Amino acid sequence: MEHAPASNFLENIVAEDLAAGRVETVVTRFPPEPNGYLHIGHAKSISVNFGLAESFGGRCNLRFDDTNPEKESQEYIDSIQEDVRWLGYQWHGEVRFASSYFQQLYDWALHLVDQGLAYVCDLNAEQAREYRGTLTEPGKNSPYRERSVAENRDLLARMKAGEFADGEKVLRAKIDMASPNMNMRDPILYRIRKAAHHQTGTQWVIYPTYDFAHGQEDAIEGITHSICTLEFEDHRPLYDWFIQHLPVPARPRQYEFGRLNPSYTVTSKRKLKQLVDDGLVAGWDDPRMPTISGMRRRGYTRAAIRKFCQMIGTTRSDGVVDVAMLEFAIREDLNENAPRAMCVLNPLKVVLSNYEQGRVEQLSAPCHPSRAELGQRQLPFTRELYIDADDFREEANKKYKRLVLGKRVRLRNAYVIEAHDLVKDSAGEILEVHARIIADTLGNDPADGIKPKGVIQWVSASEGRQATVRLYDRLFTHESPDKGERDFLDFINPASLRVVASAWIEPSLAQAQPEQHFQFEREGYFVADRYDHGEAGPVFNLTIGLRDSWGEQGGGAN
Ligand code: ATP
Ligand code: MG
Repeated sequence: MEHAPASNFLENIVAEDLAAGRVETVVTRFPPEPNGYLHIGHAKSISVNFGLAESFGGRCNLRFDDTNPEKESQEYIDSIQEDVRWLGYQWHGEVRFASSYFQQLYDWALHLVDQGLAYVCDLNAEQAREYRGTLTEPGKNSPYRERSVAENRDLLARMKAGEFADGEKVLRAKIDMASPNMNMRDPILYRIRKAAHHQTGTQWVIYPTYDFAHGQEDAIEGITHSICTLEFEDHRPLYDWFIQHLPVPARPRQYEFGRLNPSYTVTSKRKLKQLVDDGLVAGWDDPRMPTISGMRRRGYTRAAIRKFCQMIGTTRSDGVVDVAMLEFAIREDLNENAPRAMCVLNPLKVVLSNYEQGRVEQLSAPCHPSRAELGQRQLPFTRELYIDADDFREEANKKYKRLVLGKRVRLRNAYVIEAHDLVKDSAGEILEVHARIIADTLGNDPADGIKPKGVIQWVSASEGRQATVRLYDRLFTHESPDKGERDFLDFINPASLRVVASAWIEPSLAQAQPEQHFQFEREGYFVADRYDHGEAGPVFNLTIGLRDSWGEQGGGAN
């Protein structure tokens, strides 16, 4: 079982319910509204709901809470299913839709009308606000509150038949306008909204509210533990009120936990949609987005995301979680599992003056330093190579452990070389470094005892391949971009994407499968782009650097 042995409060609740026989089989659900792509916060909710079902031998449903037709779409429905599956979870049976319960919900609304527990109200939005009162003052009863059952039945039927305009009437529960809990002050059950629905077409022109729909949907599906985030805590009395007053087939109960808010991240679907709509990112699955599809494209693994969701625990407090914890989980997974390879991001040509022109020596290197089972790869070695321009200096002090004119360095998995000459252009820019191979240094130190201090990566200029490499950084420069006074867009990191159009990669990398992960030695963890990578045009995305260098770059630390 992949669930952590240390139990959280929800696991304790479920365990007690099972032990006391209050519940026979735990049934949970993940209930996204299909109005955007899933993000890291949803991953947490998915891991909680599917995790509970897994840990206790129960079931978890996937239910689209599709009661807001204007904002929803098939694209979101498809992406949500793909993301849940990609995380490695399988829902019980078919996917479910709140909209498939619309008739039942309507019948239950009629039931409340018949019991004198719901009425049609004609107050407009502004009047309704006035009547509602405030946190410190009770509300006032609507003048329409005492309509007869017959009149309410008639008006509700006519609302359903489309006789009234949007906003002209609503159906409200008759509870208590003086309740200290605002949610109990005659909440709205149905609104008129003449909008086509992606599942039910034009069949309905009235739509149930979240509050009226959610608990009843849970009851229909036999959900035992309806888990949501803390902002619904004040809605729980209403959730229970409906369950009490309706002839529902089961008695689900609601439990709340704290939302996941990672630092340097925005997890509001509305704001994520704004980034997409305003063209500030390339789409919902842009690798800088905290969406599941964005993280996937960035090269985050499902194992790391699931591990992170466990590491942070499940509690009843809302707080900011350091995004470095997520990055740590990713580094840990990729360090263990990603094959090593070499890539030169900022190429500088090295010509080996004592190495035969046209010769190709096939060197072999392990794919992983500690996992022999991952095999070996072929590294063609030739007279002309590329190294990173940052790994060469004409002059340098002793702290610089890379190649310096007149000095030596080891080429990773290959020979020791010594630089002896430079070719510059008229502006003094270095075009080529000329160097010689020190004989017999494949796997050996130089015989003359002059050992190089550093090791650098390289790629054959004639056998290597050119690649596009996209270097990503955090999308926001502020720890809590959307928690202050200022617009979250003010904190967009202008350097969140840098494209290197002509990096050089060792030739075997061109054959990488899309979504294959690598550690480019001394550079970071990279993934072959899910859509754009191909043998003819290799494209890699930076997943994460080798170390947490955020503070060093002065990027955002405090
Ligand atoms: P909206 O702003 O549209 O209400 P939402 O983020 O609540 O969006 P839903 O589609 O309603 O999105 O969420 C599906 C489930 O995921 C809900 O149970 C919700 O509580 C949970 N969820 C959403 N965001 C987070 C988060 N940041 N942390 C934990 N759970 C979350
Ligand atoms: Mg919601």
